[in-house]
Amino acid sequence: MSVYEPDVVRRLLSALEPKNSQKKFEASWNSAVKKRVESWTGRATARMTNPRPRRQYEWEAEIVEYINYISDKTRTRSTKALARLCLDSKVPILGPHFLPPSYLHARKRNQSEPAINPETLYLKALCAIHPFYYPELAKCPRCNGTDNIQWDGWTGTGPRDVHGLMVDEAAIGTQLRCENCKNDATRKEHEHSVKINLKGYCFATTNPDFWGSWPHWSIPGDIPVFFHRCAVTRDLFNLLVEMRPSSTAGSLAENIRQLHLLEYHRRKLSYLQAWKSHPYDVNNYNDKPISNDVVSEVFQDFVSATRESESEEYLRTLSGVSISFDNTFRAATKATVTSREKKKSRVLKGGIISLMNENSEIVGWVSQFECI
Ligand SMILES: [Zn+2]
Repeated sequence: MSVYEPDVVRRLLSALEPKNSQKKFEASWNSAVKKRVESWTGRATARMTNPRPRRQYEWEAEIVEYINYISDKTRTRSTKALARLCLDSKVPILGPHFLPPSYLHARKRNQSEPAINPETLYLKALCAIHPFYYPELAKCPRCNGTDNIQWDGWTGTGPRDVHGLMVDEAAIGTQLRCENCKNDATRKEHEHSVKINLKGYCFATTNPDFWGSWPHWSIPGDIPVFFHRCAVTRDLFNLLVEMRPSSTAGSLAENIRQLHLLEYHRRKLSYLQAWKSHPYDVNNYNDKPISNDVVSEVFQDFVSATRESESEEYLRTLSGVSISFDNTFRAATKATVTSREKKKSRVLKGGIISLMNENSEIVGWVSQFECI
């Protein structure tokens, strides 16, 4: 985790340029940041009902510019190049998880009491999913090919919000283009590919389609887990899949809401301690912790992607000399499914029949649906 101070990094990198081009370097950096913020906020106002603060976009655009700089300095320009390009030791390597500057930074860098906008309280950390940090992502999710992959710049829609355990975060990704899939639109999926209905040849690293063939445990580093409606940090994901079986989605969502509230008040206290005054804009608190719907979705996805195939494989390894049939799981008939129209129905009518061997291991099970 790195604290990213835009002014410090920009001036540091500018100082590494020749004296006569430093001003030009800073001017082109600033105009690129401005352009990026405008392209993101233009889309955001049209699409989103809950727009993010402009300050958040500005801070994120500075990070994007910094990653462009370090990845450009280390990019191999020719396939014939023998040596790998390295970064100058004067250039700091920050990321991929960026934290906003805290009050400590503001206080230590200003002689007078700086005019602090409480918006700083609400800046979200940013996770950058870029090949500079994760070169192993250069794999096509459709054909599993690694030979003809191009990185096609940042995702045009800008950062995505990510649900976190104590506080929400954001993530920004890049676009991967597979030339093999582009040249052959009807190309058959690789036999190990999980997503058999994947279309197109361009995939964003913040899209669940990109991660379809990655088991959850193999997702590298601190990359969040992405779903179509939302994304969750690794900490929150691990907590949900561990805790969900012993708790309801609603009570888990409430636990997480309380943790968010605790973190919010902790930050408010640190503001008061730093400035001995009251934050004057508490309405800016617009954190939206995870809902019980999303908790269920995360757990369902984990079960179908990881646990189902594992337990099926395990069941096939079991055998028994004597098998007992038992209709023990009658409690399953009590489970109701609520439709979108709030209509409740019971899917299982006769419970679950379990097959047990002499070692009390379940070697198979049959569920009785409505027709039985
Ligand atoms: Zn491909």
